[in-house]
Amino acid sequence: MENNIEVRRWLEDFNLSHPLVIAGPCSAETEEQVLDIAKQLKQSDVTIYRAGIWKPRTRPGGFEGVGAIGLKWLQKAKEETGMLMAVEVANAHHVQLALEHDIDVLWIGARTTVNPFAVQEIADALAGTDKIVLVKNPVNPDLALWIGGVERLYNAGIEKLGVIHRGFSTYEKTKYRNIPEWQLAIELHERFPNLPIICDPSHITGKRDMIQQVSQQALDLNYDGLMIETHNNPDKAWSDAAQQVTPDTLKQILKNLVVRHKSVEGDAFNDKLEKLRLRIDEYDTKLIEILGNRMRIADEIGVIKKENNVAILQNRRWKSILEKMKAGGKEESLGEEFILQLFRAIHQESINHQQNVINKEE
Ligand code: PEP
Ligand code: MN
Repeated sequence: MENNIEVRRWLEDFNLSHPLVIAGPCSAETEEQVLDIAKQLKQSDVTIYRAGIWKPRTRPGGFEGVGAIGLKWLQKAKEETGMLMAVEVANAHHVQLALEHDIDVLWIGARTTVNPFAVQEIADALAGTDKIVLVKNPVNPDLALWIGGVERLYNAGIEKLGVIHRGFSTYEKTKYRNIPEWQLAIELHERFPNLPIICDPSHITGKRDMIQQVSQQALDLNYDGLMIETHNNPDKAWSDAAQQVTPDTLKQILKNLVVRHKSVEGDAFNDKLEKLRLRIDEYDTKLIEILGNRMRIADEIGVIKKENNVAILQNRRWKSILEKMKAGGKEESLGEEFILQLFRAIHQESINHQQNVINKEE
């Protein structure tokens, strides 16, 4: 697959003068909703209409999708607007139904990409068709697993391929719903430069206010397109309400985007620098988030100390932290003086936090 230009032919055939836009609701809810959104999106630069029919939910009891009936609504939306229709498939049965209803684009969801058995089953069910298939990244940041999913489809003879970057799940709370880990997608792009790469800022951010910024970041990294969840009444959506935008907002987001020219030979240096800076920014953002989480724990300790009437400053504990961090710093080739300064500052901030907690309670 490495240098096979065929994998991006489908995208070039659209002959777009702008990045590819895939938009539509997280879930198809009713026929009216599907048709109303589709008609509104037809007024924007949307080429592919998306709607989830079968919804993978983290816990049972939520809305699990309308099922096969939704495929009929999408057929109607296609008749009325001419947009291509896309759904998520998670098993061979979904594929069969999607094929029967002339769905044009199938995507494999993050919870399915993690499972090679499921991806193989989908690949086998699609063999011999010429559908466009997009593979979302797995929920965990595992590049090999993502590539493996694409390869299973390619080996089944599917050539109209692409990937969707929707971010990765983390245990730590971050400002993202799924952290982007851009360097992983960049590495994928470097290994398979012909494979179209589409960013899904809706699932990366989980918040509609952040979609513009993350979409721009993706374009700055030469992504081929965007998948943005769009709903006629986002706040009332049956799934992923917080991250959906109205068709009007989508139009505005697309209008605000700055599409830069792909870098030419002479720009290789700047391009490299830009990518490295992005990785630094990512680590700096994580540092701030980690420090925030650390201080929130310090606050909790402050409450306990107050309840038990214990002094804030515990010298023995502080000394042992410092020794441990000096040893850890050495392993990471960080200077001892730097570690001392850093942890003095962190410790001071912890004390300030605990003092604030205590003062507030008095
Ligand atoms: C979706 O696109 O609505 C979806 C369920 O996405 P993901 O697989 O990225 O969670
Ligand atoms: Mn969704």
